[in-house]
Amino acid sequence: MPAKGRIAQRARIRKTFTGESAQHAQEQLLSSAELIPAATDRQAALESQVMLSLGGGREYWAHPLGIASVLPFKNRIIIILDGATQSYGQPFEMNLHAAQLVLPYAEPEIQVNGVIGLRVSGMSGRDLSLTHLERGGEVILRGVKGTRWHEILSELKDNYREAGLVPLWHLDKQSRHEIDHENAYRKIVNYGTVISWLGSGLLRRVALWHTASTAYTTSSWKSDGDWVFELDSYYGIGNDHGKFLSLLMDAKWGIDLKVEKYTCECKAPWSSSPYHMKACYYYLTNRDSSIPGRLQLRFRTLGPAYEVQDREQFLEAGAEPSWVDRVYPALRKDEKASTQSSLVSRRSK
Ligand SMILES: [Zn+2]
Repeated sequence: MPAKGRIAQRARIRKTFTGESAQHAQEQLLSSAELIPAATDRQAALESQVMLSLGGGREYWAHPLGIASVLPFKNRIIIILDGATQSYGQPFEMNLHAAQLVLPYAEPEIQVNGVIGLRVSGMSGRDLSLTHLERGGEVILRGVKGTRWHEILSELKDNYREAGLVPLWHLDKQSRHEIDHENAYRKIVNYGTVISWLGSGLLRRVALWHTASTAYTTSSWKSDGDWVFELDSYYGIGNDHGKFLSLLMDAKWGIDLKVEKYTCECKAPWSSSPYHMKACYYYLTNRDSSIPGRLQLRFRTLGPAYEVQDREQFLEAGAEPSWVDRVYPALRKDEKASTQSSLVSRRSK
């Protein structure tokens, strides 16, 4: 295969992992020997902590976790955010949602929320640059067109202060709140950095949750040392966890993961019951057993008796209709008509 064709083919593969444009992927592949560059240690630690925070919550969004794509470089990463998310049925700006999740603020005498030690290092148009006070690194949150981070952060600061909370993301040294919290919850605070290979590896391949998964919703949280991702799919859509896993663990493109153990109900006799939620759990660890961190993937399929919900909320959060059609059971004709009209009436309000 000619070199040009090989690069173009690699760019298409890289796009399924990163979500970036094929052109950007191609430019990067021409300038670096790495297919998806691995972050330096300090950079990986920052990315892992940001990924852990961004992955929290359970919302409706255009792309799982509200991340449309990433542009990974050795010493920094650009995270392209979705425009909106939905929270309890209400549209919510993804920029603000992301800022609330990652930027540290204190509830005095109680705890610090967000990433301890994370600081805003710059704002330029729709880019918000973040770094860690002690370890450095650079994560850029890129909002949709028209995003004004200055306004978002100044409003957030005012709201926090009004509520008796203390914003910390602008301070040039570690605050007393952060030091106290770190001393009290060292293990929890350091979790993201201990498993930085996993957090950074996942962030740099975040588009897989969109391109290689059939889940209509993906949620993530930390539980007893495991990083859990729950991927819920509807019956009849197919829940090809084999495909997802093979890409995530691919020797050239994926992360250094091996299956430690798993349970699969795909062929279990009870899985054909309409009321059953088929659950296939995979526990993945680093191929090098001495490296800590375990990823728990819960592939769940809701039986046909489960009510199909929320299609419209994803569309309203800006999800591509083609993706919604891929992850939701086909609409009947009458449902199609009512969806169209209710979307039109909501948008014209
Ligand atoms: Zn299975």
